[in-house]
Amino acid sequence: MRLRNVTGSREMIAGSEYVVHEPEMIKGKWQEEFGNVHPIRLEIGMGKGRFLMELARRNPRINYIGIEKYSTVLLRAVQKMEQEPLPNIRLIRMDAEHITEIFSEGEIDRIYLNFSDPWPKDRHAGRRLPSRQFLVRYDQILQEDGMIEFKTDNRELFTFAEEELEGSSWKIVQITYDLHADEEMRKDNVMTEYEERFSSMGNPIYKYIIQKL
Ligand code: SAM
Repeated sequence: MRLRNVTGSREMIAGSEYVVHEPEMIKGKWQEEFGNVHPIRLEIGMGKGRFLMELARRNPRINYIGIEKYSTVLLRAVQKMEQEPLPNIRLIRMDAEHITEIFSEGEIDRIYLNFSDPWPKDRHAGRRLPSRQFLVRYDQILQEDGMIEFKTDNRELFTFAEEELEGSSWKIVQITYDLHADEEMRKDNVMTEYEERFSSMGNPIYKYIIQKL
């Protein structure tokens, strides 16, 4: 994303009421933070927030938290939230590596991974968001029947993600190698910024939904 030159993005985020600044203080208390007992869903690597905001509009009785590593990117989502405040969204700037420090066991109902960075070098495989290292973290914070939805146009990353499930404690609930052509799975599909871009270039979109065994 070419957003590196947004000046003072860190400061602007620091002043935003939509961003949770000390999320570790809210561990185990996220429903209190939202002021209701609705389920909480997480998008990791949310980018500019289009997907999350659309879900939040469609489902006011579900709470959404967006996690994004870079303040320059998160700032775009903050600016959109200022235009259209949605009470069921919170944003966090952090590296998802540390999610178990901010959510307690079973606190999350579902996790979305959209067009995650591929980290093509083998030695960086553990940084890929659908890697087994991350699956262990997701397992800790997801509730009993919690699910993960992952989509990408990157064939290698998707194959890797499928292989990571072998011998694991996850089962595939649904899978497609062409989301936009799949009658069933495309029904409630919400497009992300990257999805819009890559599908318009003719790339098929791969998606799985997995559930804890
Ligand atoms: N999900 C958006 C979409 O589909 O349009 C953005 C996709 S972009 C390729 C991946 C995003 O994930 C980037 O904004 C990146 O900064 C963020 N990201 C990658 N690894 C992350 C991590 N470990 N923790 C938090 N965010 C991460």
